[in-house]
Amino acid sequence: MGDENPPLTIPFALPFIGKEEEEAALRVLRSGWLTTGKEALAFEEEFATFLGGGVTGEKNSLRCLAVNSATSGLHLALEASELGPGDLALVPAYTFTSTAEVVRYLGAETIFVDCAPGSFNMDPAALEKTLQRLEAGLLPYPRGFGPRGRPKAVLPVHFGGLPCDMDAIMTIARKYGLKVIEDAAHAFPSKIAPNSYAGTIGDAGVFSFYATKTITTGEGGMVVCRDPAMAERISRMRLHGIDRNVWNRYTDAKASWYYEVQDAGYKYNMPDILATIGRVQLTRAVDLLRQREEMARRYNEAFGEEPALILPPSGSGNAWHLYPLSLRQDRLKISRDVFIEKMKAEGIGVSVHFIPLHVMPYYKNRYGFIDDDFPRALRNFKGEISLPLWPGMGEDKIERVIAVVKTILRNYTIL
Ligand SMILES: *Cc1c(COP(=O)(O)O)cnc(C)c1O
Repeated sequence: MGDENPPLTIPFALPFIGKEEEEAALRVLRSGWLTTGKEALAFEEEFATFLGGGVTGEKNSLRCLAVNSATSGLHLALEASELGPGDLALVPAYTFTSTAEVVRYLGAETIFVDCAPGSFNMDPAALEKTLQRLEAGLLPYPRGFGPRGRPKAVLPVHFGGLPCDMDAIMTIARKYGLKVIEDAAHAFPSKIAPNSYAGTIGDAGVFSFYATKTITTGEGGMVVCRDPAMAERISRMRLHGIDRNVWNRYTDAKASWYYEVQDAGYKYNMPDILATIGRVQLTRAVDLLRQREEMARRYNEAFGEEPALILPPSGSGNAWHLYPLSLRQDRLKISRDVFIEKMKAEGIGVSVHFIPLHVMPYYKNRYGFIDDDFPRALRNFKGEISLPLWPGMGEDKIERVIAVVKTILRNYTIL
């Protein structure tokens, strides 16, 4: 075999985009209205209906607000929760940087929380221990360091689409007076209970429609909340802090040039070109989920008996955004990184989720972490590989991934 890897024949991720998405986008392109308008509004309403949102405007009904990314949505949800300098937000160490960076945007400090045992999700026990330390006037971390401040929010992440223990997290959050902003970027649609979805349990939930996520608009996100005042704040701040939305400004019967800037808002709205793609993707969501479930089942069945592998944590309601395998380093003659190179050499794309935030230079330097401060996150990272799992992959590609993994294992497992 030569030095150069062949082009990937099975990419790690591929969006599922059909004729319907193409036609919808063309329709909007030809309509003359490209920015936020009717399509975004319809997408919000259909999204709320999917999540069992009730009638818009009804008390306690779900408000859905389309934005240009989940990162923007998380920022807006924290801004509406009045997070600011002097405040602390609790974030899993094991997540993408979005979950933590939005805390820093607002001048608040992040406090990291380790994973639960045998899990990629935040540990409610570790969350509570951290809050107890803070309440006792101690610094947040056991080694006696970290920022001081008032704990104000917690951002659980439903890693890979497997729901967090929201009962435990909500109980702790209520006890300590924290806002709960669910990072549901991986979790559309993940079920917490038969009639309730991840992202609808906390004060707000934020979904991502980034290119690799379970449904996609290329870039995009949706904020979900129930509090009308919070929804109002987010709605205003996502579009320059202007007191009415631009769509109404141009198309209402009362249309006028007049508007008021009520605050220094952001430019976080979702354009109609993208929203219309999201509406089509939404109609596919259940079918795409069934496909991912079936592929995950196939992988689980194939890898269940492998001594060097640990299957993804089990649990119901998984949206299967990722298929996160763990390699048992004590049972392998090669490192995880070499394992990945061997898959790549066979034309198979794999990824790693996540490099924990406390080892990232920015957070490490800001807060003075050592790698062992979050040992479960570190251990998860060292063994994790995410296998390709995308609707439309087909039986042959799944079988090929399985065969390649098994061949590598046959050559390098320590029995
Ligand atoms: C993808 C991702 C985000 C950010 O989503 P964008 O829509 O790209 O901003 C946030 N949190 C997690 C856990 C993610 O994986």
